[in-house]
Amino acid sequence: MALTVVGSIAFDSVRTPFGQRERMLGGSAVHFSLAASFFTDVHVVGPVGHDFGESELAVLTDRGIHTGDIEPIEGGETFFWRGHYEHDLNVAHTDETQLNVFAEFEPKLSEASRESELLFLGNIQPDLQRQVRSVCRDARLAALDSMNLWIEQTRDSLVAAIAEVDLLLLNDAELRMLTDESNLARAAKATMELGPKVVVAKRGEYGAALFTNEMRFAIPGYLLEEVRDPTGAGDSFAGGFLGYLDGARGYDLDQGDLRRAMAVGSVLASFNVEDFGTERIQRLGADEINDRLQELKRLTSFEEPSVTER
Ligand code: AMP
Repeated sequence: MALTVVGSIAFDSVRTPFGQRERMLGGSAVHFSLAASFFTDVHVVGPVGHDFGESELAVLTDRGIHTGDIEPIEGGETFFWRGHYEHDLNVAHTDETQLNVFAEFEPKLSEASRESELLFLGNIQPDLQRQVRSVCRDARLAALDSMNLWIEQTRDSLVAAIAEVDLLLLNDAELRMLTDESNLARAAKATMELGPKVVVAKRGEYGAALFTNEMRFAIPGYLLEEVRDPTGAGDSFAGGFLGYLDGARGYDLDQGDLRRAMAVGSVLASFNVEDFGTERIQRLGADEINDRLQELKRLTSFEEPSVTER
């Protein structure tokens, strides 16, 4: 099994109530890959500029991620995002986005990246997502993430991209924005009518909800006492969720696999937010993931109470 991801490879400048960092490694493809690398072989596709160095690349290669399709663009600058969070860490405020090398990027995928069973179209311009989708026709499962910027600016191409995938992951506010439905379950239903069989609503610190035509499932966030920077939590969720599905060969979307994948996504996201950027996931180990999965299970299990008429 193997997984291919296209998305932003970025430098992020971030301020939260707990500190700030300038130009740290980030981007949807980076956060996603690091989380997924605990479960499967990951191939990353995306452009970087002259400012992207060996030390940034090493963060990925140290986790065994295949970086052969990271394309250095001569004279270009790496994608840059500046954002901040107020006390409500669930809402990211974008202060600056520089597409830089993404403005003219033409994805070229190696044979290995084209042959992956699972494809993740991480948050980036939806026409680029569609180009990559079109060269990975044989993927057994394709998933997509996006954001408010693309819903507002490129709605039609985003809807076309959504029609070409099996799973859609968006945060709850974005699902409401996409469908103009204020109720989340209805928004998920309307989204499934666009094509995907599975819709995952990411709900920040509250966890995530999953919808298919047959089931609904919700997992809470891990209830951490220390959160320093939520940047990348959504991508780490997606990386844990889809990395686990690929590792378990869960391509036929079995309900048990989907539920376990939700727990894994929630746990990977919880580690991501404990420190700035990729710092926490870089020093994460499988044992810690297993311990937190057990703890999450304890946190959510209860014996079914029964009520009698009185
Ligand atoms: P999230 O997982 O939703 O917190 O995503 C955070 C990552 O999204 C950051 O590392 C940013 O570099 C990246 N990002 C922000 N805006 C965009 C955009 N317009 N396109 C692609 N990636 C973005």
